[in-house]
Amino acid sequence: MAERLDGTVALVTGASSGIGEAAARELARQGAAVALVARRRDRLDTLAAEITDAGGRALALETDVTDQAQAIAAVERTVAGLGRLDTVVNNAGVMLLGPAVGAPVEEWDRMVQLNVQGLLYVAHAALPHLIEAAGSEPRRVADLVNISSVAGRRATAFSGVYNLTKHGVNAFTEALRQEVTERHVRVSVVEPGAVGTELTDHLRPEIRETARQRFANVEMLHAQDIADAISYIVTSPRRVAINEILIRPTNQP
Ligand code: NDP
Repeated sequence: MAERLDGTVALVTGASSGIGEAAARELARQGAAVALVARRRDRLDTLAAEITDAGGRALALETDVTDQAQAIAAVERTVAGLGRLDTVVNNAGVMLLGPAVGAPVEEWDRMVQLNVQGLLYVAHAALPHLIEAAGSEPRRVADLVNISSVAGRRATAFSGVYNLTKHGVNAFTEALRQEVTERHVRVSVVEPGAVGTELTDHLRPEIRETARQRFANVEMLHAQDIADAISYIVTSPRRVAINEILIRPTNQP
């Protein structure tokens, strides 16, 4: 039985588009006050206004999470502005596919910096607050939800460094889960298949075309489908820890 999130505070990274935007909207709908973290300020302001107009609370925090000082500041401004921190959705990520041979190393750096380092900076800054929230009302449980990918479970050609980052997310999630679960901080991983978002916009044009052809017949997931999975995790009763959810489009092999 789902429990509402009234009186709790959530922070969502990558809230300016795609899965993060849908997740922030969904958590607000479940009653959480939401800190919206990403670089595109205008998008965050628009979503914050939408949440506020619907009767919720939201804080737009323009942040580059690959800069540790900014990641720490986002967490601290959330706690200062909204009072606590119960839920973190560590979602910001980038997928730059292509052959490893001759790849622009700058693309590898971007994936490692965001998908691994940015996620770690946010987790590190948030954990003391999550542990504190897990010891207090209204829910006496806290959640750190890391967004990985099918690519975090299965490595494929032309996806090596993205696979590396997402396998790393899965490994860190499970190790951290074992560390903090007895303190009622639930650490979960969500592994989406293909979702219709801006993720592929960042691919080089020739790679984007290959990816488009590969998924031409796939009925893509909606960002809301992943937001629903996140909502299932964080609205579950205190005794229930959903450790991992893998979600593919039905016709994605
Ligand atoms: P989008 O490109 O739509 O969203 C990515 C988000 O990350 C944006 O809000 C972007 O905002 C934010 N972001 C990028 N760089 C930074 C940064 N340095 N600091 C803070 N925020 C940043 O893609 P998705 O919604 O699809 O991706 C979300 C997550 O889901 C990623 O981790 C991705 O790997 C994962 N995923 C997606 C799948 C898909 O098919 N779409 C499948 C499997 C996993 P801004 O540019 O404003 O900073």
